[in-house]
Amino acid sequence: MSSDPDCIFCKIVAGEIPCFKLYEDDQTIAFMDINPFSDGHCLAVPKAHFKDVFSISPDAMAATARTAARVATAVDATVQPDGLNLIQANGPAAGQTVFHFHFHIFPRADGDRASLDWGHSPGNMDTIGALAEQIKENLAD
Ligand code: 5GP
Ligand code: ZN
Repeated sequence: MSSDPDCIFCKIVAGEIPCFKLYEDDQTIAFMDINPFSDGHCLAVPKAHFKDVFSISPDAMAATARTAARVATAVDATVQPDGLNLIQANGPAAGQTVFHFHFHIFPRADGDRASLDWGHSPGNMDTIGALAEQIKENLAD
């Protein structure tokens, strides 16, 4: 499985840095975003290092999309947002800041006027950790 020693998400996959992990299978992992736009904002990521949608293998894409849909369903049940986006950025102009393919699972509220630049300010780790536990309980088999 390809890995990049300088990639923050590869380090999370390897367990070298911590995360609030929601779900893991052979090919993918999902964890809370630590600079969230909204409660329940999390990420679904292939374990192998692919930079973007242009380089990810079809198999890894399918696996990551499956995980994103499954975790999105649990997030929806947990925080009951007004809506939810799956967002996926490719390249700096599109807002990509971590160059390891990922889907944002991105809860929305009516009138939140979300911008794709939400400032990346640190969230409350107690809130994020508590939400992670609740979302995990809502993950369907
Ligand atoms: P992008 O800007 O590439 O679409 O999204 C990258 C996301 O990764 C951002 O929302 C950012 O908050 C998140 N992120 C960056 N570093 C870390 C980290 O060390 N841990 C976690 N959990 N999320 C991170
Ligand atoms: Zn990586």
